[in-house]
Amino acid sequence: MSMFEDIPVDVGVIYEGERIRYKDTQVQLGGERVDAKFELVRVKGLDEVEDGKVTVIGPDIKDMKEGSTHPFGIYIEVAGKELEEELEGVVERRIHEYCNFIEGLMHLNQRYDIFLRLSKKSFQKGLNAFQYIGKVLHRLFKSELPIIEKMQVTFFTHPEKVKGLYDEALQIYEARDARARGLKDEEVDKFYGCILCQSFAPTHVCVITPQRYSNCGAISWFDGRAAARIDPKGPIFTIEKGELIDPEKGEYSGVNETVKKKSLGEITRVWLYTGFGYPHTSCGCFEAVAFYVPEVDGFGIVHRGYKDVTVNGLAFSTLADSTAGGRQVDGFHGISIEYMRSPKFLQADGGWKRVVWMPKEVKERVKDFIPVELADKVATEEEAKTTDELKAFLKEHNHPVVGQWKEEVAVEEVVPAEAEEAPLMPVAAAATLPLTAGGFKIILKDAKIYAKKVIIRRVKSEKPRKR
Ligand code: SF4
Repeated sequence: MSMFEDIPVDVGVIYEGERIRYKDTQVQLGGERVDAKFELVRVKGLDEVEDGKVTVIGPDIKDMKEGSTHPFGIYIEVAGKELEEELEGVVERRIHEYCNFIEGLMHLNQRYDIFLRLSKKSFQKGLNAFQYIGKVLHRLFKSELPIIEKMQVTFFTHPEKVKGLYDEALQIYEARDARARGLKDEEVDKFYGCILCQSFAPTHVCVITPQRYSNCGAISWFDGRAAARIDPKGPIFTIEKGELIDPEKGEYSGVNETVKKKSLGEITRVWLYTGFGYPHTSCGCFEAVAFYVPEVDGFGIVHRGYKDVTVNGLAFSTLADSTAGGRQVDGFHGISIEYMRSPKFLQADGGWKRVVWMPKEVKERVKDFIPVELADKVATEEEAKTTDELKAFLKEHNHPVVGQWKEEVAVEEVVPAEAEEAPLMPVAAAATLPLTAGGFKIILKDAKIYAKKVIIRRVKSEKPRKR
């Protein structure tokens, strides 16, 4: 008899990665349209948890209007003789995986950023109560992580109740992150890897080091160590560091070997502390994107919750599309908020000296980690809404990137007038001709370009230095 016989829809690994479009959605839980949403796991005493209990506080699925969106919280309490508080983050991250095992249920992101969609099809099949989801989670957690002896699940949909626990959850996440600060990458001989997101980004491998927190911001090096210990064959595993090839960029032979293996040969090199060259891959559930702004030769940063467009006119969702999918994209880099608090943050690119713009909300969250002399030099949406405004702001505040801009020079034309009459002449012929503009690289293969006239101008305004 199947473990899920009493569940009205199928449950299995084959549903991981299933995308549900809005037009096929019965209800949305969490996401950008609501302010408060969370998932939280707490370790409790054996006598404090009623095994298998599922509670719903607020409207149940069947009471929700078709197409509606709701504040949402998943609160899981676990108990077991060997369970320690250190494992809370690891158990919590599995909520993403196990929810996605349920046919017609899509779970994205983590912690305070969760977003779920239930499909109309699964709702019509009878998945109309949180009890079913709670039962599935209870059974999967207990069978996959036997260290959990008892587990109870509470779903919150009542707006005020969600908000109440949301505030508490934020404090708990912060305390967890703070515990993991202080340890240096050089002080450990092992890193940890995670491939939980491969269902959505098949070549993505997170490399979790003490000073480079996972992209989702939900798994620290300590969490990785705990997870690899309790479930060594699971999605989180040990990476032997191997030889340090480049301390500035953060390249390790052991990381390269493991990532190559786990990405099935797709990714062969990783530079941990840079957004250029061979940056750490980006899955899709990163908390923020660091994006190169060529006009000022600096990095902008935008977090998932930012609803406006950024300084380059693009919204988070557009920048995230250019970044995600398990790729290494030069100048587009998925990061966690916690990584911004690390001394290794974009170290090879200049660290905070290279950051030029970020939303006020995220600046506030990391303000204690921005070097004091730079804090006023990084613009927010209040100071700059366009790259021209940004350029003026950076100049006015003497941001370190300004010193790297080339001096303005007079426009100079070097082609004689009679060249107007000259026949078309090839100005470029190459096997591959890379053009870089606006953060994109376009490669023309076997290109031959003809022009009637060639005008060579020096740049009219300050030009970014070469990376
Ligand atoms: S972002 Fe990284 S650490 Fe977080 S779940 Fe995905 S693969 Fe794992």
